[in-house]
Amino acid sequence: MRTTPLENFPPPEQWDDWQELDAKAWPKRVTKSYSLVPTICFNCEAACGLVAYVDKQDGKIRKVEGNPYHPGSRGRNCAKGPATVNQVDDPERILYPMKRVGERGSGRFERVSWDEVLDTLAARIRKAIVEDRKTEVMYHVGRPGHDGYVERVLQSWGVDGHNSHTNVCSAAARLGYTLWSGYDRPSPDYENAKFTLLISAHLETGHYFNPHAQRIIDAKMKGAKLAVCDIRLSNTASMSDYWLAPRPGTEAMMLLGFAHVLLRDDTVDWDFVRTWVDWRAYQQAKGRDADDFEDFQRGLRDDYAAFTPAHVAEVCGLDAAMVEQVGKEIGAAGSAFSSHVWRNAAAGNEGGWAVARNLQFVAVLVGAVASIGGTAGSGTNKFVPATHSKPRPHEVWSELLYPREWPLAHHELSFCLPHLVKSGRGRIDTYFARVYNPVWTNPDGAMWIDMLQDEQQVGCHVMLSPTWNETARWADFVLPMGHATERHDLMSQETHAATWIGFRQPVHRVLAQRQGKEFTWTYEVNPGEVWEEDEFWIALSWKIDPDGELGIRQHFESPYREGERITIDEYYGWIFENSVPGLPEAAAAEGQTPLEYMRRHGCFLVKDQVYKTHETEIEGSDYAVDPELGVAHRDGKVIGVYDGEKAMVGFHTPSKKLELYSPTMAEWGWPEYSTPTYLKSHIDESQLDRENGEMALVPTFRLPTLIHTRSANSKWLTELSNTNPVWMHPSDAERLGIEMGDLVRVATRIGYYVNAVWVTEGVRPGVIACSHHLGRWTVKGDQVSGNHWQLHDVDLRKVSDTAYLMRRVKDVGRFKSADKESEKVWWSSGGVHQNMTFPVQPDPISGMHCWHQKVKVTKAEPGDRYGDVFVDTKESMAHFEEWLGKTRPAGEHGPGDLRRPLHLKRVCRPTDETFRL
Ligand code: SF4
Repeated sequence: MRTTPLENFPPPEQWDDWQELDAKAWPKRVTKSYSLVPTICFNCEAACGLVAYVDKQDGKIRKVEGNPYHPGSRGRNCAKGPATVNQVDDPERILYPMKRVGERGSGRFERVSWDEVLDTLAARIRKAIVEDRKTEVMYHVGRPGHDGYVERVLQSWGVDGHNSHTNVCSAAARLGYTLWSGYDRPSPDYENAKFTLLISAHLETGHYFNPHAQRIIDAKMKGAKLAVCDIRLSNTASMSDYWLAPRPGTEAMMLLGFAHVLLRDDTVDWDFVRTWVDWRAYQQAKGRDADDFEDFQRGLRDDYAAFTPAHVAEVCGLDAAMVEQVGKEIGAAGSAFSSHVWRNAAAGNEGGWAVARNLQFVAVLVGAVASIGGTAGSGTNKFVPATHSKPRPHEVWSELLYPREWPLAHHELSFCLPHLVKSGRGRIDTYFARVYNPVWTNPDGAMWIDMLQDEQQVGCHVMLSPTWNETARWADFVLPMGHATERHDLMSQETHAATWIGFRQPVHRVLAQRQGKEFTWTYEVNPGEVWEEDEFWIALSWKIDPDGELGIRQHFESPYREGERITIDEYYGWIFENSVPGLPEAAAAEGQTPLEYMRRHGCFLVKDQVYKTHETEIEGSDYAVDPELGVAHRDGKVIGVYDGEKAMVGFHTPSKKLELYSPTMAEWGWPEYSTPTYLKSHIDESQLDRENGEMALVPTFRLPTLIHTRSANSKWLTELSNTNPVWMHPSDAERLGIEMGDLVRVATRIGYYVNAVWVTEGVRPGVIACSHHLGRWTVKGDQVSGNHWQLHDVDLRKVSDTAYLMRRVKDVGRFKSADKESEKVWWSSGGVHQNMTFPVQPDPISGMHCWHQKVKVTKAEPGDRYGDVFVDTKESMAHFEEWLGKTRPAGEHGPGDLRRPLHLKRVCRPTDETFRL
């Protein structure tokens, strides 16, 4: 072994041949030689950098560590990053394409070739396209990878088929943010903040968990203060200066209390507001003088005068002094106030979008928008490069994705798909579930079973997944896709005030290329026949349109070799050469092509220190300015903001300003919510029948070591977290006569589950909480399943025409496998499944599933067993119809005959004409 000075991390120039002592061999000194290949974690959205250590002796990945050169994660990862190696080595993973044997749901599959898969799917999809059934091909994504990759594929096919998991995740928060600025999520500059307010458990489990957490801690080390709003004393709350645990559903009210303090104390940045807020529209909506800024200031104070700390504290069940103090802290931090809400209250409540709307109201008042230490719009810190060809927008609209009842839904009404299909709005010919597990993840999972079981409703169900999951049981094809070390994706996330790209890449492919090996497809060098997913879509698209007559093939032809099928090196090579500013120069400086540079480093910082992009001057001179209104316009359309000196691009709203008054809400039937306000949640105190034992259940949190459905294939993660008991305050436990560990029935409107109780003062009295991400199962006797580190064997049976009872028949425990550690499993539980017992509760405006549940908690009944799940779908449709009745549909509301405002995003946007009913 060569002698080198002590290193924090192997320098990239030594990554081809890195030697170090094998820690496991200690006390012997055994030298190992590795090839180090950078990639990007695939275990949450944050896209942290990883480096895989590939043993040069046998080609196996020995460990996965953080990449210190990655601008977002800076070498730090959570437990889920290094656990990638478990996922790769999972002895029960799916390594080959499989096709169903027997009837759908039989649990039996046989190995098939990729050619058979492609031929079957290409023929179906081509037929649907040719027969103009372009709403019958659907791709439903759980964990996305590359921004825009499959969207480009779907648009080249001309189908309206992109579905996502967003409405069980973040649609409500996205709407609240969008109404302000057109950016649908926040990008806080935590590391420079003086005061941070988190509505979630960001340090441990929140959005962009690790890149955000490390920067929040850095700021705290410099003296910044932290407030955390959560009904649980989460690990994050335990690190905070202020723990706010309001009654669930009142968070939006709490935020108006902070706004009140800012207005009352006059700690508002009025210069910022005067230029950047569309205060004139607010004045007009209130019937006041649209030219009088001082009147606006007075009026705004009056409008929020009622939200005193005392009043807010009473409604929210908080301490008035703490509301006052946090409001003052925000005022003192001014433009260095950073904030974030993701999932948590926004995802739990009817009207959850108002939490994001009001949080941003507070930020706008102190001018903490895209400022140093403030919060920018996501798009300013995200870089999505152009590709070599861009298909035209499609010309069809699927009512299964965007039903007209929810014209302002931020994303597809994904979790209501079975309910929409059952109510006769359409069928699906070919359904791709991609790294997605709707039977288990979504509310009302039994409705998904019923839909997927029925070949009239879903003609062909294709599961694209790196691991086994519950939904795969009802698939026709189960197709193995790669983990973080087995796939390509280009990632960019708003981790801090900068833009960067990260390159996820198949480690074995890179190694094979370094060694000069020849191959055509990545699955030839990946484990088994696990396919690199990008190539799957290229191969499938080519087969759908082999001679180019449908206009699809042109988008999959090489930009370098006319008429030839594009290779994956050409696809990414073109992007890196043509679409990433500064990358070709950086690569040339190292004597590399841009693709070689990205394969070597795995990431590239496009721009650092990104602030105040709304102040970017408008290019050219073909516009006019209106000094009175403070806008720039061209051909009668507002294109920017004018501050008396220069014309600037502003924000992505129709007014180009921050919209304190939302004309969108007013025009589309919700004038009462057009300004920041508070509305009562479906689990508001007034909605609970306490006399009858009703409580609010908060099921929106996760344990920090868990991935949605992909922790079960990791022995390390499962060993760390394997139970999800019901959190209950001692006062509630005493009232119900329950002690630590007792079993309870938690009954929802459509069923119940049985779980053990954890009695703790770390939860608000009157509320119970239960983590999702646990309670995985596999049906007893199925020939194909997996993930036995965490999955229980269950008996799943119908006990009436509409009701299911699921009961575990075997605990988690030791099992025989190629990994000897499977015989050392010491834990017996994998948690309890709860989502199946939740009816769908689509928010009437954002379309977000309102996760919080009104439940009755009782002691378990005789015969109940830990883990029992009972659900009756008879009530499911009634519940869906009840929430449907709360909507205000397009056609009856909104200008003209639009289905949806033209300025609201759709992931796969069709032509403007298609927006018309
Ligand atoms: S926060 Fe953890 S799971 Fe998420 S990308 Fe980073 S290492 Fe992976």
